[in-house]
Amino acid sequence: MSANTSKDTKKLQPSFVTSPPAPDSCQNTYNNSDHTQKHTVADEISERTFQDVSLCYQCGKCSAGCPIRYYMDIAPNKVVRLIQLGYYDEALKSETPWLCAGCLTCSTRCPKEFDLAKFMDAVREIAIEKGVEVKQKNIIKFHQAFLDQIRKHGRSYEVGLVAEYKMKTLDLLQDIDSAPGLYLKGKLGILPHNIKDRKVIKNIFKKTKNKTDNRDTESTY
Ligand code: SF4
Ligand code: SF4
Repeated sequence: MSANTSKDTKKLQPSFVTSPPAPDSCQNTYNNSDHTQKHTVADEISERTFQDVSLCYQCGKCSAGCPIRYYMDIAPNKVVRLIQLGYYDEALKSETPWLCAGCLTCSTRCPKEFDLAKFMDAVREIAIEKGVEVKQKNIIKFHQAFLDQIRKHGRSYEVGLVAEYKMKTLDLLQDIDSAPGLYLKGKLGILPHNIKDRKVIKNIFKKTKNKTDNRDTESTY
């Protein structure tokens, strides 16, 4: 009887967790994996995304449909699981949130209506705010260059994005051979197509920045 119970318990261990966290090892970089504390990273993500991270019941349907899964170090549903279990270091240092393309496939497939794309946004935000070293450094530069185009033009402007990204990374020749093909297919417009009321977009950026600044000064971690 006891042998069977032990076998069953072992079977229930999530495949990515080799052993449960020992009390001492729970003290990770952020000193917030103790679930008795008031405000954990899991709480913060739930607040920012307006959904409880415990909603996810690990069916894996999101990861099964994720087009980027092959390149990720941890499957998207497992990043959620790490946060649920308090393994914040592992989740925030993962490359997965940075490779996530925000395509929403996972969010639309989820039987619990858990918005995993939004969850990935929050993980990225918190990783930046905590100064976590991101392995895929150029991805942050890409995000910055993309957002700059939205701020300036109100929509994506591919030539501006490529130019700014290349200036930030100094990797001037990467993918240069694909430019003529993209241009001929009409995917690279030479001039930006600005939206009519760019002030609205600029105000959104301004308000978001104020909110982020307040968050930095009132950090509860
Ligand atoms: S599909 Fe939804 S419930 Fe299932 S593992 Fe993904 S996030 Fe969790
Ligand atoms: S939003 Fe991100 S995690 Fe979800 S399916 Fe798309 S790439 Fe994968």
